[in-house]
Amino acid sequence: MTTSRPSLPILGFAAYSGTGKTTLVETLLPYLTQQGLRIGVLKHAHHDFDVDVPGKDSYRLRKAGASQMLVASRKRYALMTETIDAEAKFDDLLQRFDSPQLDLILVEGCKNVAFPKIELHRAALAKPWLYLNDHNIIAIAADETVDTSLPQMNINDIEAISQFILRYVDHYQPHSDLKPQKPSIAKANCDTLSPASLSVEQGLEKILAAVSSLSDVESIAVSESYGRVLAEPVFSPVNVPAYRNSAMDGYAIRNDDLQRDHYTQVAQVMAGYRYTSPLALGECVKIMTGAAMPDNADTVVMREQAVVESSSISFPHASIQAGQHVRQAGEDIALGSHVFSSGQRVQSAEMGLLASLGMTEVSVFRRLTVAIFSTGDEVQAPGSQATPDTIFDANRFTLIGLLTHLGCRVIDLGILDDDQTLMTHALEQAANQADVVITSGGVSVGDADFIKSALNTLGHIDFWRINMRPGRPFAFGHVSTRPFFGLPGNPVAVMVSFMQFVEPALRKMQGETDWQPLKIKAIASEELRSRQGRSEFSRGIYHIDDNGQLTVRTTGQQGSGILRSMSEANCLIEIEPAVDKVNIGESVTIIPLQGRI
Ligand code: AMP
Ligand code: MG
Repeated sequence: MTTSRPSLPILGFAAYSGTGKTTLVETLLPYLTQQGLRIGVLKHAHHDFDVDVPGKDSYRLRKAGASQMLVASRKRYALMTETIDAEAKFDDLLQRFDSPQLDLILVEGCKNVAFPKIELHRAALAKPWLYLNDHNIIAIAADETVDTSLPQMNINDIEAISQFILRYVDHYQPHSDLKPQKPSIAKANCDTLSPASLSVEQGLEKILAAVSSLSDVESIAVSESYGRVLAEPVFSPVNVPAYRNSAMDGYAIRNDDLQRDHYTQVAQVMAGYRYTSPLALGECVKIMTGAAMPDNADTVVMREQAVVESSSISFPHASIQAGQHVRQAGEDIALGSHVFSSGQRVQSAEMGLLASLGMTEVSVFRRLTVAIFSTGDEVQAPGSQATPDTIFDANRFTLIGLLTHLGCRVIDLGILDDDQTLMTHALEQAANQADVVITSGGVSVGDADFIKSALNTLGHIDFWRINMRPGRPFAFGHVSTRPFFGLPGNPVAVMVSFMQFVEPALRKMQGETDWQPLKIKAIASEELRSRQGRSEFSRGIYHIDDNGQLTVRTTGQQGSGILRSMSEANCLIEIEPAVDKVNIGESVTIIPLQGRI
């Protein structure tokens, strides 16, 4: 379906719930229709909302499997389309209107999608102004005034709001009010964010699309392979186990000889040895776990079940299953079978498994080299003479840790002063030496523009406002051909945005496939607040409570400069954009930090 918008004015109302959006639209409609306007209304409802009612035929037919249900009568029709996999996109929904029959589409909700809106605001709700963070707001209707150049109306003055809308419709020029959308933003739906800022998901999607895996491969010793990523699949060069062996300390016998009263022990075999004669009827071999089974023997009786009278062995109380307690050759891994895929990261178990196949070398992607530096005149290297009004550099060290953890080679370029020439030179140098360049600081709107100007001369960088906290400012692009990440300056924001954006990208560049961050649900033991439209990552501490329930609380103060909170935390608590409050006892997503930082 096309995503271009109908060529007719679209106007929305942005407000917190409780402001009275529906009532306002309801009151406005008669005014506007009296002026001859034909109006379509798009309303975004709660995800559980259903217009249909149990018992109605349409409901029954939908439940019976109709994925589209068009119900029509003399006076109206309604098309209900099931969108099980993903919510319908805003632009696709607009296409559903019979737009030649309309003069205006009013939208209620869809606060986070980009199109012109009037902000509705009531002082009594004590909610923040939306226009400050939303460039799509073209006017304000409120019960208090505010210092802005946007047109303002009283929220109770329906006449004035109607007049504003009529003027808006009169002055409408096809598509003039639609800021062109970048391709990935065009996928916005009512629960995603306006292009003025990006959601975490959108940011990550753009970044992942812009980085590719290394192609250089090297062969290294298995003993050196911890944390590296396999560049080729591994097929087993051997059977594991290589030979049939005993799974128990006991006695090896033949399955065609189970009924006998007494067996004659003809040998004792330790692991690493073998009884070389075929086992005859009436014989047994005392065998240790892991020792090769003698020819003809295929069953082991546990030592504890044996009665031993010198070399005469009996099992008076054992119920013996033919073939028991024997590990077959190739039972764990058969010769030639697939063991690992390319893109698998090698950790302890993989190292052991590779070694158990007799392998000494393994083919991996070369190590990723990452150049890092900090920016800011106030930032000073630890160990240097402390001067007034400066802070010690934390971010470079956090980054060294995070990158080391990911198995990267780090080139530490120190701290750059806010000076465009120096920065340009340093960025150039960094891109020559490294696969990736990461900086921290200097990317927020209010910052001196040195790094931005420097970057503009060297490549293409986008400065984003991510709808997340901490970590709103973020820059991403390329310095010459190298991916560049401009992290925020605040130390917690650095770590959180690294985890959300840089780590997945570096893992992809390292060649790792199928990596997913671990996210689990825990019960909130304190009330958590966020802002609608924003992903909130609080530092949390989870534990298993006395009822065996995984519960989580915050570390307390959540300032994005409080690095100590990252150290005290064992998880991030993620509050998704659609949620603004989590009550005590409700379930919330946590991202364990173990294995991540
Ligand atoms: P900026 O984004 O450059 O405005 O920085 C935001 C905040 O983070 C400021 O308070 C900076 O002083 C602080 N900051 C920037 N870089 C660092 C760093 N390397 N270590 C610790 N704090 C930093
Ligand atoms: Mg700065």
